[in-house]
Amino acid sequence: MSNHTPLETSPPEIFDCQSCGACCAYQADWPRFSLESDEQLAQIPEKFIADDLSGMRFETDAKGQCRCTALTGELGKHVGCAVYEVRPQVCRDCMPGDPECHIARKAFGFAVDDLPDPDIYVA
Ligand code: SF4
Ligand code: SF4
Repeated sequence: MSNHTPLETSPPEIFDCQSCGACCAYQADWPRFSLESDEQLAQIPEKFIADDLSGMRFETDAKGQCRCTALTGELGKHVGCAVYEVRPQVCRDCMPGDPECHIARKAFGFAVDDLPDPDIYVA
């Protein structure tokens, strides 16, 4: 049983983001703060925030992969988000199958053929 906080950017029955994590390790300037209030940002532990306060902190892991420091687990296998409940807006907006998801997954060589159609999220 994993103790990772789930990385669920969409209901797991649509696509299991916990088997990926690519968008959390693609580029340090992706998980930037935007519309969050000071109160919301204050809920993210300081150790996960970049020195310039622009977004989440990225660091290189033992395998040489630069990734968000809140990302737990192994990319492409099983991952989680240590700040899932208070994650930034950009992380809430990224949905499996959307253009950003495609870019991130392709960068890691992960399959994109089985991703859902992002139109399913439109109410
Ligand atoms: S805060 Fe969580 S969801 Fe956002 S990039 Fe980091 S690990 Fe991914
Ligand atoms: S890249 Fe796509 S499938 Fe992977 S965690 Fe992000 S939204 Fe989910």
